Amino acid sequence: MTEQNEKISQRTLPLIPLRGLTVFPYMVLHFDVGRERSINALEEAMVSDQMIFLSSQKEAETSSPGAEDVYEVGTISRIKQMLKLPGDNIRVLVEGISRGRVKQFVQEIPYFMVEVEEWEESDLPSEDPETEALMRSVIDAFEKYIEVSNKISPEIFMTITEIENPGRLADSIAANIILKPHQKQEILEAFEAVERLEVLYRFLLEEIEILEIEKKINTRVKKQINKVQKEYYLREQMRAIQKELGEDEGVVEEVDQYRKQLKKIKLPKELHQKIEREIDRLTKLPASSAETGVIRNYIDWVLNLPWHKETKDRLDLKRSAEILDEDHHGLEKVKERILEYLAIRQLSKSMKGPILCLVGPPGVGKTSIGKSVARSLDRKFVRMSLGGMRDEAEIRGHRRTYIGAIPGRIISSIRQAGTRNPVFLLDEIDKLANDFRGDPASALLEVLDPEQNNDFTDHFMEIPFNLSKVMFITTANSLDTIPRPLLDRMEVIRIPGYTEDEKLAIAEKYLLPKQIKDHGLQPENLKVSEKALREMINSYTRESGVRNLERQVANICRKVVRRIVEEDIKFVRVTPGNLKKYLGTPQFRYEMAAQKDEVGIARGLAWTVVGGDTISIEVTPMKGTGKLELTGRLGDVMKESARAGISYIRSRVDMFGIDPDFHSKQDLHIHIPEGGTPKDGPSAGITMATAVISALAGIPVRKDVAMTGEITLRGRVLPIGGVKEKVLAARRAGIRKVLLPKDNEKDVEEIPENVRKKIEFVFVEHMDQVLEHALVQGEKDDH
Ligand code: ADP
Repeated sequence: MTEQNEKISQRTLPLIPLRGLTVFPYMVLHFDVGRERSINALEEAMVSDQMIFLSSQKEAETSSPGAEDVYEVGTISRIKQMLKLPGDNIRVLVEGISRGRVKQFVQEIPYFMVEVEEWEESDLPSEDPETEALMRSVIDAFEKYIEVSNKISPEIFMTITEIENPGRLADSIAANIILKPHQKQEILEAFEAVERLEVLYRFLLEEIEILEIEKKINTRVKKQINKVQKEYYLREQMRAIQKELGEDEGVVEEVDQYRKQLKKIKLPKELHQKIEREIDRLTKLPASSAETGVIRNYIDWVLNLPWHKETKDRLDLKRSAEILDEDHHGLEKVKERILEYLAIRQLSKSMKGPILCLVGPPGVGKTSIGKSVARSLDRKFVRMSLGGMRDEAEIRGHRRTYIGAIPGRIISSIRQAGTRNPVFLLDEIDKLANDFRGDPASALLEVLDPEQNNDFTDHFMEIPFNLSKVMFITTANSLDTIPRPLLDRMEVIRIPGYTEDEKLAIAEKYLLPKQIKDHGLQPENLKVSEKALREMINSYTRESGVRNLERQVANICRKVVRRIVEEDIKFVRVTPGNLKKYLGTPQFRYEMAAQKDEVGIARGLAWTVVGGDTISIEVTPMKGTGKLELTGRLGDVMKESARAGISYIRSRVDMFGIDPDFHSKQDLHIHIPEGGTPKDGPSAGITMATAVISALAGIPVRKDVAMTGEITLRGRVLPIGGVKEKVLAARRAGIRKVLLPKDNEKDVEEIPENVRKKIEFVFVEHMDQVLEHALVQGEKDDH
């Protein structure tokens, strides 16, 4: 069809290179001409037939283009009008006539003259259905383009859609839309109508897509701007009203400040909005009202919690081991367990899993191990004591309706830590109480449970805080009173207590240097002799740990500082001789082994809150009716042990020559004269039975023997706890022989070698063996 409709002819024309502009056939437009060569070309055209060849420069910036700088394909145009502008410029109105391709440059100076091949195109409507379909698609796309671009009037659209010739349609649309120069050129270079339509169609679709994205961005930005403007406007208004009312302008600034801070802490959207509402309330209430104080306090808490702030863990087991060693003497097993625990954490990369529970008497270094763990991980450390806590609100806080309410101690401690992943030591978890005010243990369970604690909600805060990154460590003196569900979550590490030698080493290596430093002294100012330290350990303190020892060392340091200042001396040496001068008279005398073997007195070993201790059990039989009287601090468990002991004795009356009816004719008075309340009542069983038999049979008990073990009705001896502490206590009291249940034999390994060597251990399974070793053989005291 093209062959019939289009024809090609040659002509020679002056050329004007266009910058950033493309002229299409049938298009009328004007442009300004200023370059000398272009003006010359224009003049040449005017003197001949007013026809000119317009072709675009490849680069609009080129100021004096050569032949190679203009596109070959351009438009043969007719000059319709010329207008001289101020200066040397001329405005020209032209009409595109037809496409042309440069065959040859005839001259370049004083103006371009080219030989062009002219492409004359048919003017007829299309008859080909495919072309027809393509035209419709192009028109649809053009309509869409107009809709999104909003730049072309509906009239132009109407005129263009009436065009029936495909090539002309394409040219008219191309002339009216905004395209890049190279795109327009591509359309111009499409001589065939179908090809032209296709190229145009592709560009239209691309443009539409870009325009739609642009539009979306615009509306979004506009919306944001509108909202900001609206808020700004309202705030300004409010400010003006407040000013009129004579209210504190400070509030507005404060609120602005709060808003800024709130943005920084990046709460989830709902929570953010909730806090925003609280902040807004501040502006609505009179500045002096009591409620603003409450709100301010609340906002203050929210803004100051470490919502996202955390320290980066330093996972380096070697360094952890060094730090634990640096801070603590001995405790090899404990350190090993801690390192294993850290290793597992490091491997699993999560802080889920059991919580460490360090169990042992006061002052053995539980807190200080917690601190070292924090230091070795580069985490912050916080500590919270649970001792005597009976109110759930202490953990979870009070609702804000309470005047003066504050968050619970968990949230307070987190704020104090300043990060959301501190090492958090929960001290004395065994001392939790529970009463009508709610059960702190169950609240605590929620805190410690990795399934629940990622949104721990304090009553005061009302919004959840994530505790899952916190590393909790608990401590306890004993496991007996820890609520079972809590205990199940914990991995227990026992720290038993120190021997005299260990205490000495701790005092020399850690406590003394630390106190000397804390008191501003130099190491050469003060020496405490080993003997003096031993004296302090034995006569000035009575403990399994070293807390009081540390206090006594601090006492000495204080007094020494005073002497140095007042008496102008440089050096003080503390020895047993002058110890009294610094610490006063000794406060404790350990109950020492008895001076002689006695009837009715047996020495037991107990495990008290301060560690191990010896207890003497005294039994006095009196005429009566078989009553059992117990004095001293004894629990019900002790009574049961005493009864079990008596049942056993009734089966052995013959052996010891005891009156078979003693239990109905005699009352027994059992007394424990001194020492703390034993925590493990039943372990005094064999001691009590020994004392009773000794009393009834009149056989003395050996003064250098001590014992511990539970007794059954038939006289079997059952195992007990706290072997190490008990044996250490026996050693302190100068006991030589210790009777222990057979089942406790393995525990003896825990006892330091030097103590073990000085004591003879007898492992017993039955009360008969106990008596064999405890009673003085062949002696009977007739009274
Ligand atoms: P707890 O928490 O078990 O009651 P602390 O951790 O408060 O005991 O310890 C009391 C003091 O004794 C601290 O100053 C601690 O550093 C020190 N201490 C305890 N055990 C050791 C040890 N093995 N080595 C060095 N210092 C110790």
